[in-house]
Formats: sequence, C-alpha cells, structure tokens
Amino acid sequence: MDFKFTEEQEQFRQEIKEFLEGEIKQGLWQPTCDAWIMAYDPEFTKRVAAKGWIGLTWPKEVGGHGRSFIDRLILTEEMLRYGAPAGCHWFADRQIGGALVHYGTEEQKKELLPIILKGEAYVGLGMSEPEAGSDLSSLQTKAVEDGDDFIIDGQKTWTSGGSHMNYIYLVARTDATVAKHKGISELFFSTKLPGITVQSIVDMTGGVHFNEVFFDSVRVPKKCLIGEQNRGWYQILNQLDYERSGMERLMGNYALFDALIKYAKETKRNGKPLCEDPIIRAKLAQLKIEYEIGRLHMYRVGTVMDEGRAPNLESSMSKAYSTAFEQRLASVSIEIAGPYGQLHPESKLAPMHGLAYHSYLSSKGYSLQAGSSEVLKNIIAGRGLGLPSE
Ligand SMILES: Cc1cc2nc3c(=O)[nH]c(=O)nc-3n(C[C@H](O)[C@H](O)[C@H](O)COP(=O)(O)OP(=O)(O)OC[C@H]3O[C@@H](n4cnc5c(N)ncnc54)[C@H](O)[C@@H]3O)c2cc1C
Repeated sequence: MDFKFTEEQEQFRQEIKEFLEGEIKQGLWQPTCDAWIMAYDPEFTKRVAAKGWIGLTWPKEVGGHGRSFIDRLILTEEMLRYGAPAGCHWFADRQIGGALVHYGTEEQKKELLPIILKGEAYVGLGMSEPEAGSDLSSLQTKAVEDGDDFIIDGQKTWTSGGSHMNYIYLVARTDATVAKHKGISELFFSTKLPGITVQSIVDMTGGVHFNEVFFDSVRVPKKCLIGEQNRGWYQILNQLDYERSGMERLMGNYALFDALIKYAKETKRNGKPLCEDPIIRAKLAQLKIEYEIGRLHMYRVGTVMDEGRAPNLESSMSKAYSTAFEQRLASVSIEIAGPYGQLHPESKLAPMHGLAYHSYLSSKGYSLQAGSSEVLKNIIAGRGLGLPSE
C-alpha cells in the first residue's frame, strides 16, 4: 500500500491552498462549517469553474478534465479545510454531472454539461418525501406520461439549497403497477417550469437551508428523463455511492476543528492555557486520531473509484465512521468551550465565531443525510459480513 501522493498531486494541492488563502486574504468570504451545503456564493463558484475545478473526473470528450477521483478528493479536502462557500456547484459537480455523463443522451450532455462546468447549475436533490426517507423506494411523487411530456404531481422535502436552485434532480414514480423499486425514474429539469413552489424550512440552528418543494401538474418534457424509464432505482444506487463517499462526510465542520485547536492554545482558564490541561489535550488528540482514520477511509473510497469499482461497502463504512467523528468534534467543542460554546454566532461573546453552536446543532443531521448510519450499518452487515438481509 502506497500512501504517497504524486508530485503533481502535491502541486495541485498547493495550487488550491494558495487560491483559497488568497480569497480569504482578500476578504471575499470567511471559513464556515457546512459551507459546502449551506454557503451559496455564485461568484466564488464562477472563480472555481474558471480554474477548471468542476467536472474534474469527467472524460475530456464531454468537457471534463479526465482526472482521478483521488485528485478530486484533494480538491474537496482543501475546499472543506478552508470552509469555502461551494454550495452553488457541489451537487451538480459531485453527482448530477456524473449521472448525465453515464446515463444522459448526447443532447443532454451537449446542453447541460457546459452549464454545470461553467458553475451555472445550482442543483437541488429532489429525493426525500414526507413519507419516504430511508425507504426511498416508497416515494409517491408521480410522473405520468402525456404525449411528449410527463406531468409531475407530488411533494419533496428536505431539499437542500432549494431556495437557490435553478435545476432540480427528481426521482418520481413512473409506473405504480409494478414492485415499488421497479417503477421509479430520474428526471433533471429547470425549476422555472410553471407549477413548482418552494417553501423554506427553518432548521434547529435557526438557519434556512432545507426546503419543501411542491409539484402541481408540472409539465416536464420527456427529454429530461435521465437514463431509462423505470430503471431509476438502479441508477440511483450508483449515485448514492458518490453522494455518501465524499470528504464532506468527514470535513463538513473542519473549520471548527481548526478553531478549536486555536482556542485551546489561546484561551486561559484559571490562569493556565487550556492546551496544558491533560484532559483537554487527550480529547483533542483523540479527535486527531479519529480524523486521520476517517481520512484513510475517504482515500480508500477514492482508490476503489479510480479502479472503476462501485464503492458501495467502502462508502457506507467511511460515511458511518466519519459522520460519527464530526458529531464527536461538535460535542467535544461544546464541552471545552463550556456554557459560552452555546452562544449564537451573532453574540460577541461566542467563542470560535459561534462555530461550536452551529456545528453542535447541525451535526445531528450528519448521520441522517444521504443515508442514516443505521441504514449504512445494515449495508455493511450484509455486504461486508455476509449476514442475511433484514
Ligand atoms: C442536513 C440534511 C440535508 C438533507 N438534504 C436533502 C436533500 O437535499 N434532498 C433530499 O432528498 N433529502 C435530503 N435530506 C433528507 C435525508 O435524505 C433523510 O433525512 C434521510 O434519508 C432519512 O430519512 P428520514 O429523515 O425520513 O428518516 P427515517 O427514514 O424516517 O428514519 C428515522 C430513523 O429511523 C431509522 N431507520 C429507518 N429505517 C431503518 C432500518 N431499515 N433499519 C434501522 N433503522 C432505520 C433511521 O436510521 C433514523 O434514525 C437531508 C437531510 C438532512 C439531515
């Protein structure tokens, strides 16, 4: 096993770091937790696109950069380390562009991939419904054929970035007469179509990033279907690996990790720096151990992807492990900061710019979004241990 990066990869990492540090120095944005999913900055996304850092792993024939998944991990690792506001392009780059590369028609590739590559597609993921989360195949939103179109009726929920999106990826029921996972299709279309209503949900942090999305007789051209009609379920399984496996499952709140170490070095309690307290030192060291293990999981997934294999087991393991690390990081930060850690970021007295508050409340969702840890452990029990399915 070789854990070394190539010289080119080291240079690439350096280039990304310099770019992001330059942006922070210019005051263009501040590092935040969950920036990949909650911080929407179209101008930042345009600058990332101009660097050629969207569609990194797609083939050159479709406008991508033909680079490895390890290269993409390096890129996303640095974006997350600096808490960069990458929400506008994250979903399109991570999974929807790849789905179009795999399953899209020539027309879709020609029309849509350039929009994604320019950083102009802000995609919402329309999967979960009020009665279909872990058991996604129970979804009820229907797409009924009508001439050259589908007519969509139903509701999605927890759509991240729904108030910013200009495109939606939608999973809908196209055949209600067959077994539930056999009648599902994937569609991708503009949210400007008439009949779509977005309603924001306020989350526990007091922030607004999730949304409910309602479809009322929305007429969607059939050319918006991704891949084969009624084969959506099998296509989704492949995409979920991309959704689950990224660095954002380990480093979503990395800005807090950095802030916590700095806080422990700079803050005195009872006349002594926190970092001299053996209990605090041990807690921080334990986090470092867990972070490094999570990182190895991530690079293992990248290696499997570069070998052209589906990282189903590996991504389940890495997500279940890494999101638990993120939750511990949030809890330890609140413990070390004491009662002040619970102050809202807007309070002048909030330590670590209020990142502990935000992360502690947000981190409950880390082990739910993109597949809950319980569901992932079921996959690991079956595919990793050969145990019979439930
Ligand atoms: C921050 C965040 C962002 C999200 N963004 C999006 C988005 O952009 N688009 C989108 O479509 N969805 C999104 N979601 C929704 C997410 O995909 C669902 O929350 C997730 O699939 C779980 O579904 P649920 O919330 O309905 O919980 P449920 O499925 O009802 O699960 C509730 C509990 O039961 C457990 N459970 C369920 N089934 C089993 C089982 N078979 N075995 C053992 N335990 C089980 C779960 O682990 C969980 O603890 C987001 C969620 C969060 C938290």
